[in-house]
Amino acid sequence: MVLLRFAPSPTGPLHLGGLRMALYNHLYARKHGGKWIMRIEDTDSTRFVPGAVDGIRHALHWAGLEYDYGPGKEGPHAPYFQSERLDLYRDYAKKLLETGNAYRCFCSMDKLTVTRERLARTGSNSTYDKTCLHLSDEEVARKVKAGEKFIVRINDSFLPNRPPADDLVFGQLKDAHASLATDPVLLKTDQFPTYHLASVVDDHEMGITHVLRGEEWLPSLPLHLDLYTHLNLTPPQFAHIPILLNADGSKMSKRNGDVQVIDYIRRGWEPEAILNWLALAGWGARHEPTPSSESSSSSPSSPSLTPSPKSGSHSHIHHPIQIQSAPDSTHIMTLPQLISEFDLSSLTQRSSSLDVTKLEYINKHHLMIKWSDEEGLEKLASRVHNLIKERFPKSQYTDVERIKHAIRLLDGRLTNIQDISVHAPWLFIEPDLTSPEAEAILSKIKTKLSESHIREVLITLHAIIQSKASTHESWGSFISQPNGEILAQLDIREQLGLTKSITKPFLMLLVRYALTGMKDGPG
Ligand code: GLU
Repeated sequence: MVLLRFAPSPTGPLHLGGLRMALYNHLYARKHGGKWIMRIEDTDSTRFVPGAVDGIRHALHWAGLEYDYGPGKEGPHAPYFQSERLDLYRDYAKKLLETGNAYRCFCSMDKLTVTRERLARTGSNSTYDKTCLHLSDEEVARKVKAGEKFIVRINDSFLPNRPPADDLVFGQLKDAHASLATDPVLLKTDQFPTYHLASVVDDHEMGITHVLRGEEWLPSLPLHLDLYTHLNLTPPQFAHIPILLNADGSKMSKRNGDVQVIDYIRRGWEPEAILNWLALAGWGARHEPTPSSESSSSSPSSPSLTPSPKSGSHSHIHHPIQIQSAPDSTHIMTLPQLISEFDLSSLTQRSSSLDVTKLEYINKHHLMIKWSDEEGLEKLASRVHNLIKERFPKSQYTDVERIKHAIRLLDGRLTNIQDISVHAPWLFIEPDLTSPEAEAILSKIKTKLSESHIREVLITLHAIIQSKASTHESWGSFISQPNGEILAQLDIREQLGLTKSITKPFLMLLVRYALTGMKDGPG
């Protein structure tokens, strides 16, 4: 059985990128009949933000992504907080020390900086000169006894026959070790593990079969594979997921707009639409990108291992994957459909951009799916009930039934459920005829009708509507008649001596103006 893990660091609210990572883990696990764990990577106490774990859980729950094991869902791999597993990492470090695959380094920060600079000046790729690798056992024992602070480094230079670094998205990395630091740190001076050690130990201890994680960890893959080799363990399979960018190709950051899931929850987006949107960003085919390809853009901030999808012959990467077709990035898919269609081989190797106009389109369609059954409609209406009440505190018409009616009426016009009050405030309160929009319509109407005629036309129309079209349906069939017939029935022009330019669309504009103060709206 496949077992995956989503491993957020609780350093703040969940971002869209994090949610997408959880989603891909969920899709892969469910597609293959497996499970996934949420593991909290909280070994860096300086970056821990109180409440962050609850925020992440809330966001996942809202999205409908339920992990099988993790905080609040105990299981065979507990505990799920790395801060509660410290002994395990130290045991592994000890094992590596005993076999000579790791060593203690007593160099001070200052000394390390000087060394690094000296090595750089000589043109060396090394970042450390391995001084401490050559300390005698007695020397090490003496320093430890004297209470000198130390870190533990992996002794990584002399691994013969390294297996190839394979990635399910990026293919085989060539010369992957070239960019690794010299003997990276496994335990810090406070004897807390680095991400590398903790992640490898946990993935092994928990029995993870597939690691789906962000592309930013791709450069660490060779080191992680070395750790598995040093520990004589079989590594899981890896898939690195390209990062997300804004629609303009810039890096996602709070400054550039909403990046936290909570922003999207508050704004009233449908979770199904957010998942659909996130899943398909990056769900490009492994095909040659075309200039008009809008779902992908080149990645200015990706690590150096990012290949050029065009050439297929990037110095580090060999592309084993066949050309495939994939859904368009605005294809409407529910979670079960995403699960059945998900395939790692159709993930693009390029960074993907997120475009809010696509979300609007996708959200609109998920809204339509939801309200097409009575239960879904009731849920939607109940969700915005309080919001509508707050928006129109003096209205007597803010009951759930009226909101349901509003949703049905607004049908394909609603891109977001919270926009009911924007599209149809007149369902709840008197139309605002003093708004700039209403005033603009009135000036247009006045180019054809005088003020007194406007009043007379409306009174005549009102009488006709009452006699011939008193319900929504009868009004609908009444106005769907051809222009001439309506005007003949209304007999308005004759009665009022109006000109030929008073047409059906003009009369409809007038009615809409009087009823809503707005230029467009439902039929
Ligand atoms: N804690 C890491 C992060 O939040 C997760 C990396 C991983 O999935 O291995 O980026």
